[in-house]
Amino acid sequence: MKNKVLIVYTGGTIGMVQDANGSLKPYPMRHIYDVVPELRSCAYQIDTCQMENIIDSSNMTPSNWIELAEIIERNYEDYDGFVILHGTDTMAYTASALSFMFKNLTKPIILTGSQLPMGVLRTDGRENIICALELASCREAYIPEVCLFFENRLYRGNRSTKVSAENFDAFTSYNYPSLALAGIRFSFKKHLFLKRPDKPLEVRKNFDRNIAVLKLFPGITPNAVDAILHTKDLHGVIIETFGSGNAPTEPWFIHALEDAIKRDIIILDVTQCKAGSVILDQYEASCDLSRIGVIGGNDITLEAAVTKMMYLLGTYPNDHDHVRRSLTYSLRGEMTIPNENPHN
Ligand code: ASP
Repeated sequence: MKNKVLIVYTGGTIGMVQDANGSLKPYPMRHIYDVVPELRSCAYQIDTCQMENIIDSSNMTPSNWIELAEIIERNYEDYDGFVILHGTDTMAYTASALSFMFKNLTKPIILTGSQLPMGVLRTDGRENIICALELASCREAYIPEVCLFFENRLYRGNRSTKVSAENFDAFTSYNYPSLALAGIRFSFKKHLFLKRPDKPLEVRKNFDRNIAVLKLFPGITPNAVDAILHTKDLHGVIIETFGSGNAPTEPWFIHALEDAIKRDIIILDVTQCKAGSVILDQYEASCDLSRIGVIGGNDITLEAAVTKMMYLLGTYPNDHDHVRRSLTYSLRGEMTIPNENPHN
């Protein structure tokens, strides 16, 4: 029997056309065979479906993540793998969000897109779709993860980040190696895959949007910090700090964070550096942060930090201690730390 892959189309450049003013706008895709006719002769069966509204990924929200997860959940038993066609702008956020939503995943969910629309002669979309489909249908590898494929690499979804609005290799993963490379053949690095779970799939569908990101810069004012930390209904904040998690040691800044923590707001420290890790207490400039209860985000990406915090606050709204603890664990391979939390 042929392997089966379901393509879920969400929008993005890959399916866009130019409007009368020359701007690119999302367009409903007809069947994938009309766009990539070569796929008619591939060895696996392809079915397609699309999100209710086809969007530029700048408009993605947690409701869209839930819609996507429900499409996959409904079809989970009937397909060997899933390919999500998605705009590149927020693809790493959706990949991260889905990774947290699908607990005990045993089948590949691969997001891809393109920098040029399919109708353009030099489009990168054709290669990206074909490779993503090959990977999603590949019994040899059978990757039990949410991944992102772009240009010639397969990344763990919650480790990936968009790095170029210009080049075809628009994504990278600074803190974890790619899981597979597409050359003449695919070379898989199976030792880097997540372990295949033997428990039943669980799909978690709650996100709490009441979080904020506070990006530090030299000269940031108390007014700016206070405005973020006093956002109405705020439950969590990600502070983007310097280097290995450092921040100003000025008393007004530390007091503002301490006051927020006393108001039960969870604060996670993520570095502005692209590669490397937060190490609280390595410098004096992070000692106060750990003393007052800021949580170190290790080497997590901002995309994974945002979606993980929304996911944990949404899933355990009445147990902030559990949320705090879970932020220190790797739930789906999003951080390089030995202790994985079996309970999440
Ligand atoms: N603005 C587009 C989107 O993210 C960009 C792309 O698809 O590459 O939907």
